Amino acid sequence: MNDRKNFIVINETFICENCGRKNDLLKGSCRNHCKYCLYSKHVDNKIPGDRKSDCKSLMKPIELDQSGPKGYIIIHKCTKCGKEMRNKTATDDSIDAIIALSTHKNL
Ligand SMILES: [Zn+2]
Ligand SMILES: [Zn+2]
Repeated sequence: MNDRKNFIVINETFICENCGRKNDLLKGSCRNHCKYCLYSKHVDNKIPGDRKSDCKSLMKPIELDQSGPKGYIIIHKCTKCGKEMRNKTATDDSIDAIIALSTHKNL
């Protein structure tokens, strides 16, 4: 690990540690995962957005929940500690990546 502690900062540009691509600002919302590969990072502890976790490992998108009323939810699972988190998809997420996730293809 290097010193890049702030992989996911609310509404700031970041470089994805999984695919290496740059994510730009997302207007009107908070980005908590890569819009290209949908990977996230384990930065929250108990409350979403608290940024209190010491884990800081990559979180792999494992499932897409299409049952809710608020749009699609990506279920992320931490590659290190196994914690699962639910995150809403963003408006500019890669539709290909979302479809791949919904059909359980490996990203
Ligand atoms: Zn990525
Ligand atoms: Zn973790």
